[in-house]
Amino acid sequence: MKRRNSFLFLLVAGLLALLVLQATSPGRELQFLVGGGMVNLGYRMQDHLERYDFEHSEEISPEAIWDEVLRQNDLAASVRTAFPRTPRHPLVAVVACMDGRLDTNELVGDTRTYYYVLRSAGSVLSEREQEMLQLAVENGVRLVVWTRHSDCAAEKAASSAESRARYPALAQAVDERSARFDEFLARPAIAARLAAGQLAVKVVDIDTRTDRMLPRESYGG
Ligand SMILES: [Zn+2]
Repeated sequence: MKRRNSFLFLLVAGLLALLVLQATSPGRELQFLVGGGMVNLGYRMQDHLERYDFEHSEEISPEAIWDEVLRQNDLAASVRTAFPRTPRHPLVAVVACMDGRLDTNELVGDTRTYYYVLRSAGSVLSEREQEMLQLAVENGVRLVVWTRHSDCAAEKAASSAESRARYPALAQAVDERSARFDEFLARPAIAARLAAGQLAVKVVDIDTRTDRMLPRESYGG
């Protein structure tokens, strides 16, 4: 109990010190860095509590999961109402596979979710997704990060005759992935910005185990 009291005392003292420093530039930077540390501390505190993970509750019904999602949303919305966010003007759009192991916020250090994130099976850009990405660019995005990742289930589905027969549309989408990406680059609004140096598009491979991004190709910039 004594240890917990001293921890709380330190926490409150730290927060008060941050509030005092709020008006100064170094104080703001310190708050930003400490805030980032606290976000990661939050992950550390929660990640090992398997009891609260859906995936560890084998018998849970879909309706019970939905109730839990609504409860979590209510909690999050209450916090957001109490602490409104500053307006967002994203400069970055990230395209990533829907693989559950990829945490795009962690991947690019975007703990405040300031980026556009477009997720699809195998990072394939259908015409709709190309238009959505173009809309993001026309709304101010200057950097598009298009990612692929190791151990991708979509790529695996396209890799054998047996799974191709089972998932024909997914296999076809993976086959067309490069052509779809080239289509996006060739869209007039995108090509013009790339040529004018107003937009850069980076192709990266992600190591799924570590979240490490390995740059492969670069366009515009
Ligand atoms: Zn994948």
